Amino acid sequence: MILVDTHSHIYLPEFDKDRADVIFNADKQNVKHIFLPNIDSSSIEGMLELANKYPGRIYPMMGLHPTSAEDDYKNELQIVKDWLNKQKFYAIGEIGLDYYWDTSFKDEQIIAFETQLNLALEFDLPVVIHVRDAFDDALEIINKQEYDNLKGIFHCFTGNLEQANNIINRGLKLGIGGIVTFKNAGIDKVVEQIDLKHLVLETDSPYLAPVPKRGKRNESTYLYYIAKKVAELKNTSINEVAKITTKNASEIFKIELS
Ligand SMILES: [Zn+2]
Repeated sequence: MILVDTHSHIYLPEFDKDRADVIFNADKQNVKHIFLPNIDSSSIEGMLELANKYPGRIYPMMGLHPTSAEDDYKNELQIVKDWLNKQKFYAIGEIGLDYYWDTSFKDEQIIAFETQLNLALEFDLPVVIHVRDAFDDALEIINKQEYDNLKGIFHCFTGNLEQANNIINRGLKLGIGGIVTFKNAGIDKVVEQIDLKHLVLETDSPYLAPVPKRGKRNESTYLYYIAKKVAELKNTSINEVAKITTKNASEIFKIELS
């Protein structure tokens, strides 16, 4: 069995004391591949250091997170572009819209999102999209005709069935994380009705640890609990969930994951 954590911020300071152990433990729990979404210029160095240390196991993305799209967003976007010209990345991410924390940079967020969708087209890369309290705006943008051919992941999906179908019909996969194990979150009912071929798994470490680790620091090892919950919901085995979601991740990131 091979599991793929399609979204982890394991380069953050929360892991400074035991990062190697966390990666070793993930491997023992069959989490053989970990994809790292970038946040902004301050996270690039740590992310790349980690990816360079574990070739074939840990893969970097490049992008500007919506909550980092502020006054200096143009400079930040230029840094993203410069890096894309310098080396291989596996996706443009994470990018998107987040109106939960702050709406004062709404316009900047929208420009940054569109600019990076264009970079994904230019560099022929998939996108990893983060959306919080901004679903309609985000959908309107990704539904523009110019983005028809874009593939990728709608990360940390927690919406309803209609929203899920909108994303699937748009050709994007749903990233399913720890919230699927939370009581009353509702995403379990949605996952029940979505074919596995549309799903990938993620932890979003260090955030959103699944039950029974809820409230603790999340890590890739706990992807097992997410896979197990999805298997229960889909009435199938964890091996089958691993097989299909790993295949989905392989297709999106255009890399053999074995
Ligand atoms: Zn993230």
